[in-house]
Amino acid sequence: MLDFKRVQRYTDAVGAVRDATGMLHSSAATMMDCMYQENYRHYQPQHFDVRELVPRREFDALGDKALILLDARIVWTADALWEVSQKECFVGAYPLPEKQKNRRVWCNTWMFGGQAQYRGYRPHDAAIGAVHSQHRYGRALDLHFDGIPADTMRKWILANTGHAATRYISAIEDDVSWLHVDCRNSSSDEIVVFGA
Ligand SMILES: [Zn+2]
Repeated sequence: MLDFKRVQRYTDAVGAVRDATGMLHSSAATMMDCMYQENYRHYQPQHFDVRELVPRREFDALGDKALILLDARIVWTADALWEVSQKECFVGAYPLPEKQKNRRVWCNTWMFGGQAQYRGYRPHDAAIGAVHSQHRYGRALDLHFDGIPADTMRKWILANTGHAATRYISAIEDDVSWLHVDCRNSSSDEIVVFGA
């Protein structure tokens, strides 16, 4: 779970800003609104193990420090999309499987005995993907949401560019069966949709 003490600190900070400047903030600052206040020099994923974000070789070499291979913004985005997929508009249309408390969001699966290990950080010598794929710079993730088609997630992102959870997403890939999100230094203020 997210650290609610941190959230409270942000809530306090939002209140302080409102008092000092007269700016209006929602009195019911949501968790995402609160997280929105932070600059991420470092971000520790709350809903993903580091092994879900890096290949086995990199984890074996670096352990949890393998997070240095990933942009903090894309790690934060993974958590934010996890949160969104548990609620927002999805619960009604895409219910959780029975007896499942939370929706699973998958990235790499090698730690669970699966094959996928290049869906997060992708080393430069990995044979798959484009030479300058954002994955090779640690700025991209390919995610699968149990019970939600990737296209539904893409549509939600493009329809919610003002939502805090999409704030760092600068590009998504169209027409693939997974959700590719990245935080490239794009040439556009809009979310770039590439591929197809
Ligand atoms: Zn990708």
